[in-house]
Amino acid sequence: MSAAASHRPRAASPDARRPAANPWNVDLRELGRRAGSLLQVQRTAPAPADWRVELIGVPEGAEIELRLRLEAVMEGVLVTGDLDVPVEGSCARCLEPIEDTLHLGVQELYAYRGSTTEATSEEDEVRRLEGDFLDLGPLVRDTVVLSLPLSPVCTEDCGGLCVDCGLRIDDLPADHTHEVVDPRWAALAQKFETEPSTSSPGTPGENATPEEN
Ligand SMILES: [Zn+2]
Ligand SMILES: [Zn+2]
Repeated sequence: MSAAASHRPRAASPDARRPAANPWNVDLRELGRRAGSLLQVQRTAPAPADWRVELIGVPEGAEIELRLRLEAVMEGVLVTGDLDVPVEGSCARCLEPIEDTLHLGVQELYAYRGSTTEATSEEDEVRRLEGDFLDLGPLVRDTVVLSLPLSPVCTEDCGGLCVDCGLRIDDLPADHTHEVVDPRWAALAQKFETEPSTSSPGTPGENATPEEN
């Protein structure tokens, strides 16, 4: 795939012009700015593309469940709560498909424009509020992507793949071995087995056991 093909022609979401219809947006006018006021957000939102690391990620369009509490505080809006995030990938050891649901907690302050927090922090330290809507997408994305394991495993003690035959060790009998891997060696081994041994067990010298005391 070329680099150009991975670029999507439309940058904005179809709901960009109707922010209230975007499930990632919260209308802050429902919360107001009076410190202490609360807004519960319980909804699902579809995952965008590319919320993933190498071996595991959130399938595009998968429903992420948000159970969040927005609280107006002096400096901005405090978002706390948790997420249920469906993930799919493959085991780093045996390559079996993995399906799971991550349960993640979030806690984040969004600073009001003009607040002391905004004035005393960098933009990459504290998120900012822009306009009437709070877009939960970037917070959830960061939380999810940072939680994705770089080496996901199908089970904690997954045995991986047999280095000789490539089958899953967990699917093989416990005594699975490859004493003979190559047919040419097999023929050779057979030859040695059928021919009478040239070295007698009583070869003098090396095999002698020092038993004298
Ligand atoms: Zn595995
Ligand atoms: Zn094997």
